[in-house]
Amino acid sequence: MKRLFLLAFALASLAFAQPATHDPAALRDAALAGDTIAWDFAEGLTTEVGQRLAGTEAEARGREWAMRRLRELGFANVHVEPFELDVWVRGEERAEIVSPFPQSLAVTALGGSGATPARGLQGEVVGFDSLAELEAAPDSAVRGRIVFIGHAMRPAQDGAGYGAFGPARFRGPGVAARKGAAAVVIRSAGTDYHRNPHTGGTNWPDGVRAIPAGALSLPDAEQLQRMLRRAGERPVRMRLTLTPRNLGRRQSGNVVAEVPGTDPSAGVILIGGHLDSWDLGTGAIDNAAGAAITTAAAHRIMRAGRPRRTIRIVLFGAEEVGVFGGTAYFERHRGDGNVVLVSESDFGADRVWRAAFSLAGADTALADRVMTALAPLGIVRGRDRANAGADLGAWAAAGTAAIDLGQDGTRYFDYHHTPDDTLDKIDPAQLRQNVAAWTAMLAVAANWPGEIGRTEPRPAR
Ligand code: ZN
Ligand code: ZN
Repeated sequence: MKRLFLLAFALASLAFAQPATHDPAALRDAALAGDTIAWDFAEGLTTEVGQRLAGTEAEARGREWAMRRLRELGFANVHVEPFELDVWVRGEERAEIVSPFPQSLAVTALGGSGATPARGLQGEVVGFDSLAELEAAPDSAVRGRIVFIGHAMRPAQDGAGYGAFGPARFRGPGVAARKGAAAVVIRSAGTDYHRNPHTGGTNWPDGVRAIPAGALSLPDAEQLQRMLRRAGERPVRMRLTLTPRNLGRRQSGNVVAEVPGTDPSAGVILIGGHLDSWDLGTGAIDNAAGAAITTAAAHRIMRAGRPRRTIRIVLFGAEEVGVFGGTAYFERHRGDGNVVLVSESDFGADRVWRAAFSLAGADTALADRVMTALAPLGIVRGRDRANAGADLGAWAAAGTAAIDLGQDGTRYFDYHHTPDDTLDKIDPAQLRQNVAAWTAMLAVAANWPGEIGRTEPRPAR
C-alpha cells in the first residue's frame, strides 16, 4: 500500500517536472471536456456585479471583481489602466400613443439620447420604413415631429443583419436630428419578438444636438406601423418621456493580466473582450462571455507551462458607449512595438463556427496549423479578413496580424442589449467549445516557432 503510494507520488512528481507541452489537440480536448473556468467567471461576474454600465460605480466594481479573479487564477502583472469619459445614465422611459389609438408602447432610451422634459414631449409621428427613406425625405417632412425608423433586420449566422440594419440605430437618430426632428424612436436593432426594446449607442454628428432617442420592441414597432397605416389622414400623436442624464467626466479603466512568455523577442499576443455592459440585463452574452472565454483559454495555456510568447488579456472598459477603452489602450500602447497578434471575443457564447485570418503573406503555415487544430470542433475557414472586433480593430487596421474566431450569431440579437441578456442564455457546452477553440488557437500561435509578421494597413472599419 505504502509502496504504491510512493510510486504514485514519484510518477506525479515526474509528470510535474516535465517541460511545458502545448499540444494543441490535447489542450483543446481537455477544455472541451471539462472547462469550468469560463462558466465560473461569467457566473461570478454577472451574479456578484450584475450590469456594468460604463463609467459608473457598477463598472468599477466589475474591474475590482475581475482583478481579484485574475489574481486568484495566478496571472501575472494584473493591473488597471484608467481613463476618463463622459458618462450617461438612463432615466424614466415611457412612450404613449395619445391619439387616435391611445395605449402605451415598450420603449427604452438609446445610449447618448437627449432628454425630454420631465413630463414628456408630445408630437406627431412620421414613419419611415428604412434609414434610406428617412435620408431621402425633405426636412419639412420631419421638422418638429417624432420620427419613427423601421428596418428589416433578420437573424443570420454571421450576424450580417446588424451590419446591414444597425445603422438605423447608429446613424438614424443623428440624421433625424439634423433634419430638425423633435425626437426619434427606432425599431430595435434586434431579432426577437419579446416585448423587450434593445438599447445601444447612437452617434450624433458634430454640431448636431442630441435629441431624445428611443428604441421600441419589435412588437411595438410593428404596432406603431399598423397605427400609422390605419390612421390615414389623422395624425398619430405620441407622448415620449425619456429623462437620461449626463453625469460629466468619470473614470473607467482597462483590466490587464498576463501569461509571461519565455522569449521576449517573440512579441506579445493581445486577446480579450470588454468588461462593461449595458444596464438593462446583466451583460452575460455581451460580454461577460468574451472575458470569460479568453481568460479561461489563457489560463489553460499558463497551466500547461510557459508559452514562447507572452499572452496578454485586456478586459476593456467602456466599449458599449463608444469604444473608449479600446481606443485608450491603442493610443497608449501602439508605439510599444511588441504586439504581434490580436484577437477579440465579443459576439456571445454560442459555438465558434468560422475562423478568419489577417496575416502576412508568409504566414499561411500559421493559419493552416491553427485550422488543423480547430477543424475537429467543426470550425471552417472564412474568406473575409479578420478584423479583431471593436476593441482591437484599430490594431488590425494598422497592420498587426489578427485572428477572428467567429461565433454563431443566429440567436445573439434576440438578447443583445436587452433585459434578457442574462446568464441562463449562455449554454455551458457551447461555452466550453469556445474555450477549446481559443485554447487550440493560442497553443499554436503562442508557441509558433517563426516570426508573426505585419500585414498591409487598411482603413479602420
Ligand atoms: Zn459587446
Ligand atoms: Zn454590446
